[in-house]
Amino acid sequence: MKKQIPVIGLEMHCELKSNSKVFSRAKNEYSELPNCNVAPLDLALPGTLPVVNKKCVEDALKVSLALNCTLPDYICFDRKNYYYPDLPKGYQITQMEKPMGVNGKIQIEVDGKLKDIDIHDVHLEEDAASLDHYFDTSTIDYNRCGVPLLELVTEPCFNSAREALAFLEHMRDIYKYLDVSDADTKKGQIRCDVNVSIRDEDSDILGTRVEVKNVNSLAGVVDTINYEIARQTKLKEEGRYNEVEQDTRRWDEEAQKTIHMRSKVDAIDYKYFGEPNIPMIRVKDSWIEDLKKEIPRLHLERKYDYINNYGLSNYDAGILVKEKKIADYFEECLSLGLDAKVASNWITTQIMGYLNKEETEIKDLYLTPKRLKDLIDLINEGVISSKQAKEIFFQVLDEKKEVREFIKEEDKQISDKEKLESIIDMIIKDSPKQVEEYHNGRTNLFDYFVGQVMKNTKGKANPVVTKEIIKEKLDN
Ligand code: ADP
Ligand code: MG
Repeated sequence: MKKQIPVIGLEMHCELKSNSKVFSRAKNEYSELPNCNVAPLDLALPGTLPVVNKKCVEDALKVSLALNCTLPDYICFDRKNYYYPDLPKGYQITQMEKPMGVNGKIQIEVDGKLKDIDIHDVHLEEDAASLDHYFDTSTIDYNRCGVPLLELVTEPCFNSAREALAFLEHMRDIYKYLDVSDADTKKGQIRCDVNVSIRDEDSDILGTRVEVKNVNSLAGVVDTINYEIARQTKLKEEGRYNEVEQDTRRWDEEAQKTIHMRSKVDAIDYKYFGEPNIPMIRVKDSWIEDLKKEIPRLHLERKYDYINNYGLSNYDAGILVKEKKIADYFEECLSLGLDAKVASNWITTQIMGYLNKEETEIKDLYLTPKRLKDLIDLINEGVISSKQAKEIFFQVLDEKKEVREFIKEEDKQISDKEKLESIIDMIIKDSPKQVEEYHNGRTNLFDYFVGQVMKNTKGKANPVVTKEIIKEKLDN
């Protein structure tokens, strides 16, 4: 059999942050208590009409801009008709004709290499209610009904589970950078439909695609793809490829396999038509210009900036851009004039270690970039050693006082030239034998003199100044 190339396309759903739901005034908030965030519209009570949440539209447009999509001249919504108990209206309001954006293009990083990704479209829709099934009963919670959901559809442009995973992680970071969603997979805020097929290596013709619905974790997406590649490849090997039908399946976490749900229903069966209760929304240029201003520099751009213009390693730059607030903190350090590598070291080791241990966020950190600069300045000025700086770092955070308040007179490094000179003169006078041997070529005796100074000052002599003076004295 010819070598098989996996082909994967993703439909990624992400719940957006907002005060109220996308078409009603009910709160968009997770609650342990079922059915407490529900407006009449969410229950499809007669006489209710949808009102579009402007913030959700703007957030969706921002995502569309960030993905370099072509934006529509106007937006409209469509009805996708189907019956299910989690959908009391009997249709879902979504977008089909004029979505928030089409034909997007972005780059992601996979194993250190850039890969182009083509986006088919991004559209805004409403989430359905959630059902829980028990032994002989099912319950329904309408809190999720009407939660804004952004669906992003990619072209079939991934060739492995690794690439698909890198894309989902990349998008999760973008949603967080744009602050349109917490994109928390643990809270079920990201769910994917995973489309998988295989094709012969030397052919452009795509194979039959299988759609696995509602995979709700990133690990699940990876497992689904790998399972489907193996299943389809095996059928092809055995000459039973005709058994791969275009069906809709689900990922069974326990059994670790995909299970057939139904044969694929075509779009026509949803009897899409324009939602008559929502007027069309014109997308003015000035509106888009305003939204563009709210889009921050995204993580990949910042990462390459740090690598190419500030000499950071790929690894360190990757850590700094993982969270926007950390990257912002780092950039504030740069703007205060701190050396990029020094700042990066402090942030990725001391600061992030502290944040992890204390389970706090950088925005709440008492050690602001300004205070970090104070601390690093003191090292550079030779007032304290790096070791002392690390101790002071924790004292500042514990006691929430300015850096300089922790410098005790007795801990200060001795940088005073005259004072060091007199100590060094004394040591040279007391060590005629070492001086002679040094001048006869035993230059490693230099360290002996440094050691003597440190001993004499209990380690507080500024090493840089000390070495300068010793060299000057011995060489003259
Ligand atoms: P539908 O609306 O029926 O779900 P689409 O044509 O919109 O179908 O495709 C949905 C997803 O399937 C897209 O993410 C697309 O990239 C992916 N896809 C289409 N053809 C294939 C294929 N042969 N193999 C893998 N994925 C595919
Ligand atoms: Mg689909």
